[in-house]
Amino acid sequence: MSKELIRLEGCTMAFDGEVVLDNINLSINDKEFLTLLGPSGCGKTTTLRIIGGFQKPVSGDVFFDSVRINDIPPHKRPVNTVFQKYALFTHLDVFENIAFGLRMQKPTPSKQEIERRVMNMLNVVSLAGFERRETASLSGGQQQRVAIARALVLEPKVLLLDEPLGALDLRLRKDMQNELKRIQQATGITFVYVTHDQEEALAMSDTVVVMDGGVVQQIGTPEDIYNEPLNAFVADFIGESNIVDGYMLEDNVVKVFGRRFDCLDKGFAPNEPVDVVIRPEDVDIVDEAEGMLRGVVTNVTFKGVHYDIIVDFRGFKWLIQTTDLSPVGSHIGIKIDPDGIHIMKKSKYSGMFGDYSSYSAEYDDISDVTIELDEELEVDL
Ligand code: ATP
Repeated sequence: MSKELIRLEGCTMAFDGEVVLDNINLSINDKEFLTLLGPSGCGKTTTLRIIGGFQKPVSGDVFFDSVRINDIPPHKRPVNTVFQKYALFTHLDVFENIAFGLRMQKPTPSKQEIERRVMNMLNVVSLAGFERRETASLSGGQQQRVAIARALVLEPKVLLLDEPLGALDLRLRKDMQNELKRIQQATGITFVYVTHDQEEALAMSDTVVVMDGGVVQQIGTPEDIYNEPLNAFVADFIGESNIVDGYMLEDNVVKVFGRRFDCLDKGFAPNEPVDVVIRPEDVDIVDEAEGMLRGVVTNVTFKGVHYDIIVDFRGFKWLIQTTDLSPVGSHIGIKIDPDGIHIMKKSKYSGMFGDYSSYSAEYDDISDVTIELDEELEVDL
């Protein structure tokens, strides 16, 4: 178990009286790749700036190696930052861009030491042989790697990265995600990474911190966050989710649309109202007669590997991802295994997410097909 390197304790930030970070508590371990993930304006950059020392929280403390560093200025903190706009020096070649920070250090390392460290960094970012290239002649991904090398060569304990791949096209982004993960593992430097791209966060991170409205919504591994979202916001923001109302009848049994479903969740009060998350890939389509629920297909989109199918269950539309085609208008049944059902406490996000009605507006006329409710399905709570 890695030891804690940075801790934010009760950090709150406000601008002009408006709270933009509300009581943030966060622990970052040595050598960890931690990602702050959330929609625009949720406070990711502000959190990063507090760690970097560019912003002082109005209340709360920042610790580095258990030492309070609130009053330590940015250049005296063992951190370095890579921004989306990486602004390389265009009058200097690749080698000199990377060497720049070392030449500014006091005492300045020897010529041989600078040479050794820059060449080592070029290897780490896979740019060996590029040392005398003009930066303007590099691709976007290569320029970004120079920016990363320039920050890493100073051997910070922590690298802060604020949407560093934001300016790159999708293909390059994917390549650079792998590259960044590899660089982080090769150097053992703690990365604190900001993105609003959930796929990017899941692909690279050891730990993901999901934020919304200046509040940390969940902290966990990518698997935890995806499989066990704590509330409807997290479930919706991380991947696709059908989120429906349910009642916990007892441990391991939830009632949804009047039907009992076995699940793996426990510890709720009897009849407690809950949000139920069902991922689109966890739903099996079966014959209507065999289904736990029965619905009508209102939209089908071919996605290459699978179909996105929208199914209307009594006016509530679900997204199902399947390799079996069920044409628009077909009546289908669905089955969900207990581990495909995840129960969440009700929250302020309940009812806001997880209905795919808007997905297929053009098919609304088809979804008006009324589905007969049979007696056994009536909700009796
Ligand atoms: P994005 O992904 O768009 O960069 P973010 O999650 O990084 O968003 P922040 O940049 O941390 O969000 O901003 C959080 C909130 O604080 C926003 O509402 C923003 O407008 C506000 N904010 C940030 N910096 C300032 C500032 N210097 N003065 C006033 N408001 C600010």
